[in-house]
Formats: sequence, C-alpha cells, structure tokens
Amino acid sequence: MNYDSKRLQQKSSLRFHHTTTIIFINSQLLKVNNGWFMTKIIFLGTAGNTAVVSKQLRGSGGIVIQVEDLQFHLDPGPGALVKAREYGINPHHTTAILVSHNHINHCNDLNVLIDAMTHGGIERRGLILGSKSVLQPQQDSHPVISKYHQQLVERIIPLEKNHKVGIELIEINAIPTEHHDSTAVGFKIFCPKLTISYTGDTGVTDELLESLTGSDLLILNVPYPSKKEVSGNLTTDDAIKIVSHVRPKLAILTHFGSEMLKADPLMEAREVQRITGVQTIAAQDGLVISPSGFGHPKSPIHGY
Ligand SMILES: [Zn+2]
Ligand SMILES: [Zn+2]
Repeated sequence: MNYDSKRLQQKSSLRFHHTTTIIFINSQLLKVNNGWFMTKIIFLGTAGNTAVVSKQLRGSGGIVIQVEDLQFHLDPGPGALVKAREYGINPHHTTAILVSHNHINHCNDLNVLIDAMTHGGIERRGLILGSKSVLQPQQDSHPVISKYHQQLVERIIPLEKNHKVGIELIEINAIPTEHHDSTAVGFKIFCPKLTISYTGDTGVTDELLESLTGSDLLILNVPYPSKKEVSGNLTTDDAIKIVSHVRPKLAILTHFGSEMLKADPLMEAREVQRITGVQTIAAQDGLVISPSGFGHPKSPIHGY
C-alpha cells in the first residue's frame, strides 16, 4: 500500500481550514474495476428506530455508494448482506465500510460484510472507517468489530470528528455530530464531480451546519416528523433548518422511526421542499440515485 499524505495535504488545504490527520491511500487492491461509469447511491434500508427495524417495516442494510470504480457501504445495519444481494450489490467489491456509530441498526452487519468482502480472510483487503465506539474499546462498551475480523482487512481507521481520509480520488471528512454515542460521526464524501453528505444520527448544531455546507447531495437521517421535541436526532423541522442552510441540489430524507412512518415520509419531504425550495425526496428501500444526471433534463432519481 502506498501512503502519500503530502499529495492529499496539498489538495486538502484548498478545501479545509481545520488541521487534522490526513491519510492518502492508493492501493490496487482497493480497485474492483467494474467499469462503473456512473455514480450510484443505493438505499438498502430506510429504517430508523428499533420498532421499525425489529418488525422490518423498512430494511436496515444501510447505503451503498458506487463512484469512480470504488464502492462504499455506509452503516450496515441488520440485514445489510441480505439486502446487498437482493439489490444486486456484490459485497466482495466493497472498497471501504463506513460506520457512523455503534447503535445496532447502524453497525450490526459490519463483521458479516468484512467476511464477504475478504472471502473469509482469503484476500486481505478493504478499509474500515468508523467512529471510535465501533473500532476501539470505550469506557462503557466493546468495539463492534471483532478481533478476528480486524485481521482480515487492509486497514482500520478510527475517525475523530473532522478527521479526513483520502482514498484514491475520493476524500472523506468525518462530520461532527451530536448523538447519544458521543463518538458518532457523519460523512462528507468529496467525489471528483460532486460532494455527497450523510448526516448520520445527530441533532442540529452550528458545527454541523458549517460542515455540511457545499454538499451537492444531502442524505439526512430524520427519524421524527415535525413538531417533536427530541435531542440527538433530527425531526422534519430540523431537516428544514439544515436544508435551508446547505441548499443542496437534492436532499434525501431517510432513517424513519415509527412516528415518521405514521406521518408519511413522502408528505414530510414535500413540506421540506415547499418551505426550502430545494428538491427533497423521501428514500424508499431499493431507491437508486444516479447523481451524474444533475444538470441534465433527465431526473437523477430512477423511478421519479
Ligand atoms: Zn439511528
Ligand atoms: Zn443512533
């Protein structure tokens, strides 16, 4: 593996004001060279609380992003492997698994996916990026990744808030969040042609708003509908605040709790769009977005 921190540092200094650890990873092993010409975002689940996950009213497999011949799997909750196969994703082609925090609906299938990614350790490959609670022992919790599975991958990177990691042409920034897992992060993914952000689980903070600024495509975890008082998670009212501030090209609501399903995510998304003027949709299981459609008359969202 080839680490060239200088190269990324030069590139990053144009984008970031915070100074944090920067790692540049350039490895042939990470490339699956599948000939993906289009960036694709595939939702393997949209469940956002225990009731919705345990009844599987919505799937909980996380989100897959395919870009520049690389494949990222974000927040693989229960059923991630099953849903990946169901939606035609090959987990052996995954470049990196990104886990925002240690709540079970975000990380349950991490070890299963490592097994699939490495063919049970036959090929030592892949990167794991995650909150410290997922990858390292904490005062009150075990790491989610097992000792055995730690040895199967090429590299494990515990993320501090604002930590930046470069993988080939992609740069990933750990977004500072405010959640019940104090080490939780979100992800801002700088691709050559667009920037995709995923809030993870969080309340609204000034730091969060600042970090999300500049996102073309914004994925928000919104377990609660409007008019709810919650802390450490988003409601539709919070989503309106964030979307008005960030003004992405497209906002996608996901991670729905029971009350949100009752209120109807579609109606909540319409409300966000009505108030902000930003195109906003509610994710469904199996939703595929091809953001390369931005700027073209054709809609970037399949099926819309
Ligand atoms: Zn959650
Ligand atoms: Zn959580």
